[in-house]
Amino acid sequence: MTADVTAGARHRAPSAPDAALPVPPTEGSVAEWTDRYTHALMDTFGAPQRVLVRGEGPYVWDADGKRYLDLLGGIAVNSLGHAHPTLTAAISAQLGTLGHVSNFFGSPTQIAFAERLLGLVGAPAGSRVFLTNSGTEANEAAFKLARRNGGQDRPRILALEGSFHGRSMGALALTSKAAYREPFEPLPGGVEFLPFGDTDALEAAFADGAGQQVAALFVEPIQGEAGVRPLPPGYLALARRLTADSGALLVLDEVQTGMGRTGAWFAHHLPQVGGGITPDVVTVAKGLGGGFPVGALIALGEPVASLLGRGQHGSTFGGNPVASAAGLATIAVIERDGLLGHVTDLGARLRERLSGASPLVAEVRGEGFLIAVELSSPVAGQVAQRALEAGFIVNPCTPTALRLAPPFVLTDEQAGTFVDFLAALPHDLGVQP
Ligand SMILES: *Cc1c(COP(=O)(O)O)cnc(C)c1O
Repeated sequence: MTADVTAGARHRAPSAPDAALPVPPTEGSVAEWTDRYTHALMDTFGAPQRVLVRGEGPYVWDADGKRYLDLLGGIAVNSLGHAHPTLTAAISAQLGTLGHVSNFFGSPTQIAFAERLLGLVGAPAGSRVFLTNSGTEANEAAFKLARRNGGQDRPRILALEGSFHGRSMGALALTSKAAYREPFEPLPGGVEFLPFGDTDALEAAFADGAGQQVAALFVEPIQGEAGVRPLPPGYLALARRLTADSGALLVLDEVQTGMGRTGAWFAHHLPQVGGGITPDVVTVAKGLGGGFPVGALIALGEPVASLLGRGQHGSTFGGNPVASAAGLATIAVIERDGLLGHVTDLGARLRERLSGASPLVAEVRGEGFLIAVELSSPVAGQVAQRALEAGFIVNPCTPTALRLAPPFVLTDEQAGTFVDFLAALPHDLGVQP
């Protein structure tokens, strides 16, 4: 038996320019690309605000060559900024070694990544991970896991008003916004929405034995899409007590708040948010891969970690080595560069500076680099539009609130340019006749 020594050579990159490589388009204006976008892509998002061609650190450039400070970070995704050299190298190296295998096989990268996540969340013995490609898939898996907690005997699943858990049918059933849900009914049943932050309503949902019928309570430790809304102090502790007493699962959706976004690895680790609780399930995605699509369902301890058994869930791409390498590299850079501390310190300083920036600012909420600037009138759309023209990307997540979720590599000086922009806005914006 002889090894085929030429096998590798056949796949080596040709030395001449490879005609099959997609060349990054350098021709075409934002207007031209926007026109093509509207013909080629479904109109689910509306027309793009700009067509972007490249990024570096916290900056992106559009097809006209204009630069923007990306204070939204791809909606809490680009934690390392754009085109981070370590992340790029990790992804390329893994893709050049082993890019994909079926889930009939494992890979060291996938295994190390799952172990790393268990370590970061502080998981007790017996905890396990299911890897996905997005946040909605992580919550979809959590929904299925919840159904395995008691089955037909526990038909109730609780979520909160204002919640956002994703767009696939199960995650959508947990999402409170009627405009998102209603066009797609009937959705998976049994979901009840409790008034946000209302401890009496929470107690009532579990009272008189009703808790015995609850399979799970899904909560975002800080509601992201609803406008960076924190739960009142003590709410999660009460949720933990009621679920534990009745055998229901407490599922924390940390898709937006996890992986360092709030200055801790997970928002529920912050004493003022979590109050020291240990949930049963945590879902993550968004910042997990630093921009590469990856998500995870983390089940803490037994028996929760074994609720989804063999053959009961799956994913072709979930846990692929490239996504796992992206996750490992993102975590490693956050640790190496002390970015949790940076996010905590600069986040606090930025929130303070934003509070005093302009009479237009009524309140500033959030933790770390997940921030909402509540305005004194419903001009968030107008302010975001002006910001874009001035070279800042922010998100008007409600008519009165701007959301900032910048890359962790943002500097004090860069953040200050946005504070200066806000300060220079006309104070009577929106109230002029
Ligand atoms: C974004 C988000 C999701 C959905 O994640 P996708 O990756 O878009 O599917 C779920 N939950 C929360 C809290 C989110 O912010």
